[in-house]
Parts: sequence; structure tokens; C-alpha cells
Amino acid sequence: MENHGRFRREVATWLADNLTGEFAGVRGLGGPGREHEAFEARLAWERHLAAAGWTCVGWPTQFGGRGLSLAEQVIFHEEYAASGAPARVSHLGEQLLGPTLIAFGTPEQQRRFLPPIRAVEQLWCQGYSEPGAGSDLAAVSTTARLEPGAGGDGGPGWILNGQKIWTSLAHVADWCFVVARTEPGSTRHHGLSYLLVPMDQPGVTVRPITQLTGTSEFNEVFFDDARTEAGLVVGEPGDGWRVAMGTLGFERGVSTLGQQIGFRRELDGIVAQARATGTIDDPVLRDDLARARIDLRVLRAHALRTLQREPGPDVAVGKLLWAGWHRRLGELAMRARGARGLTTGGDLDEWQRLLLFSRADTIYGGSDEIQRNIIAERVLGLPKEPRNTEERR
Ligand SMILES: Cc1cc2nc3c(=O)[nH]c(=O)nc-3n(C[C@H](O)[C@H](O)[C@H](O)COP(=O)(O)OP(=O)(O)OC[C@H]3O[C@@H](n4cnc5c(N)ncnc54)[C@H](O)[C@@H]3O)c2cc1C
Repeated sequence: MENHGRFRREVATWLADNLTGEFAGVRGLGGPGREHEAFEARLAWERHLAAAGWTCVGWPTQFGGRGLSLAEQVIFHEEYAASGAPARVSHLGEQLLGPTLIAFGTPEQQRRFLPPIRAVEQLWCQGYSEPGAGSDLAAVSTTARLEPGAGGDGGPGWILNGQKIWTSLAHVADWCFVVARTEPGSTRHHGLSYLLVPMDQPGVTVRPITQLTGTSEFNEVFFDDARTEAGLVVGEPGDGWRVAMGTLGFERGVSTLGQQIGFRRELDGIVAQARATGTIDDPVLRDDLARARIDLRVLRAHALRTLQREPGPDVAVGKLLWAGWHRRLGELAMRARGARGLTTGGDLDEWQRLLLFSRADTIYGGSDEIQRNIIAERVLGLPKEPRNTEERR
């Protein structure tokens, strides 16, 4: 990273120069459990980033990206987090759907969808989980069938029925990438398709789910004869599992390093709280804060090493490490604040939101138990668990 000093300065200078004036107020907004904060202002900031070519920085230039190397992307995300710039609102399109379309989409799909993702003109959400399909995604039961005349232009189109759940940012999304069963009678990962579905239509209902924080970052999404064009299937119909797994492979990319700079800022804030309240004099808390700092260095070293390899079980190790670390950080925040952490002046403060939202860290993106299963099976070579009665026999 040492050879990229000029690039690092360019990013840092641009961010410092632009997080001023009308954008000065967005600094630090939208962290864990605070996704509701200043949404419109953060959207405007992201469009400003896009206009200067600072969105989708890792996409190849022929797809409208900046074509940054891995090292440069890491630097960009680190400087973004270090500058205090707000949490992103368009990350599902930029980090998940965009790379999926680049890898699996048709030229027509790429031409139609990549530019508005890059410009932050279309927001996306991820329609994978269902009430009966979370860790076991192959149990998806939302259906889609191709019908003549169901497309917007009078041509054939897909008609979707079913329910998704825990759909982050569905309430602000224009489009959803949906895993649906398109081959009647198919089971498990066979017969699924990866469909691009517009959210603004009569067949789609979004119902917010209130979280521990009192806000609603995620939602239930109901498809009742929802429609999308026949051509909006990514990959072949029936091959959606492969595409869906491809998307998951992009989920923990280089932005993890930026996330860790955000973690460091949170830890620094907690140390400042401990000084302010006097809890810093507690030797057990001091020890735990020091350990948290050391573990953060380990997280960084692990993430850097993982990025240089093909995605594999290392990703599961990294997810387990950061999710547990961040959950413990939420608890440290409360200990540092002493009695103040237990009271609210009517609304939760930043640290209380951190504690409550960080309970979700060990669930989304694959729960701790699932990561341990991956490590057990793929690293330690332990036998797979039986999944149902049939397999158990
Ligand atoms: C904040 C947040 C945002 C999310 N955003 C989205 C989103 O945008 N789109 C989307 O599609 N989904 C989203 N999710 C859903 C997330 O992917 C699921 O919650 C996750 O996959 C777990 O599935 P589940 O909730 O159905 O729990 P289940 O799969 O029912 O698991 C329940 C418990 O059983 C354990 N368990 C399950 N299977 C096994 C096993 N084989 N071995 C051992 N233990 C097991 C799990 O670890 C967990 O503790 C989000 C979740 C959260 C918390």
C-alpha cells in the first residue's frame, strides 16, 4: 500500500474538499442502527460522489467504473471511512447486483442497469430470504411463471407470487433482485431463477419490520401477481442458484477494509466515552479495550490476506471474526458509558443504537453457526450435517 501515497492523498483531499458546504452536515450519519438518518441528504451526497466518478470504483472502465486495482480500492474505502463520510445508501446495487450483472448479465442488461446504479439513480434491494428460507436458501418457495402477454410491452413476462423477508432498504428501492422457483415441482437448488423485478407496481407490497432500534432497516416484501419482463432473468432460467451464489461471493469484498476503519472510529469514540465517564479507571474495561484494539489489527491482517486469494473458507473465518468483534464492541460501549448507557432522553443515542444493531451482525450475511459449518466441512473435512429426514435416514 506504501506505493500508493499519491492516490491516497488524492482521495483524502477530494473527500475533505467536498464534505463541506451543503454536504458538511452528512458527516458521520447513517451508521449501525441509524440507517434512517438524513436519507435524502445522503442520497444527494452519493450522486455528488457519482458525478465525480467516485462510485463503483472497482468496476472495469468499460462498464462505467474507475477500474481501480485492489490496492487502490482498499485505499478508497479506507479513506472514505476515515473522512467521516456517511454510510452508503446504494451499496446493494454497487457491490452486489452490479458485479453480478458484469459476470452473468447479457450486454442488454448491462447497458440498461449498470449506468443508473453507477449514477445512484436506481436503488436496489436483495430478495433472497423468505420466512421458510434463510440459512437454507435452497428452500425458496416464491414462484415465477412465464406467461404470454405479461410483459410490459404486451410480450411474454414473468408473474411472481410469494413472500420475501428481512429485505434491507426495500422501502426505498426501485428494483429488487429476486431468487424465485421457475420450474414447477423442482426442489432445492434446481429450477430457481434470478429475476430483476421493479418495485413500483401494484403486485408488490412492502411492509416495514420494526427492529430493536425502533427503526426499520428491513422489510417484508409480498409478490401478488407481480410482473417483470421475460428478458429480465440473469443467467439462464433454472440456473438462478449459480447466479445467486455468485452474488454472495461479492458480498464481502474490499469494502470490508473500509468497514474496519469505521470500527476503529467507533472504538476511539468508546475510549473517549470511558475517559469522560471515568470508567477508564476500571482495569477490566481497560484490558478489554486494549484487546479490542489488538483484535482489530488481527481483523485487518486477515482481511488483507483473504483479499489476495480466491474466495474460499477464509471468507467464513473473516465473517466470524468481525461479526463477533463488533457485537462485543456494542457491549463495550455500554460498559464505557456506565450508568448513562442505561437511560435514554426519549431517543436512543449513537452508542445504544450500536449495541442493539450489532446483535444482527452475527445473523446477516450468513449466521455464525453457518460460518462454523462451512469451516467444519470445508477446512476440517468433517462430514456434512443431514439436512432433512430423508437424508438423515
Ligand atoms: C440486519 C439484517 C439485514 C438483512 N438483510 C437481508 C436482505 O437485504 N435480503 C435478504 O434476502 N436477507 C436479508 N437478511 C436475512 C439474513 O440473510 C437471514 O436472517 C440469515 O440468512 C439467517 O436466516 P434466518 O433469519 O431465516 O434464520 P434461520 O436460517 O431460520 O436460522 C435460525 C437459527 O438457526 C441456526 N441455523 C440454521 N441452520 C443451521 C444449521 N444448518 N446448522 C446450525 N445452525 C443453524 C442459525 O444460525 C440461526 O441461529 C438480513 C438479516 C438481518 C439480520
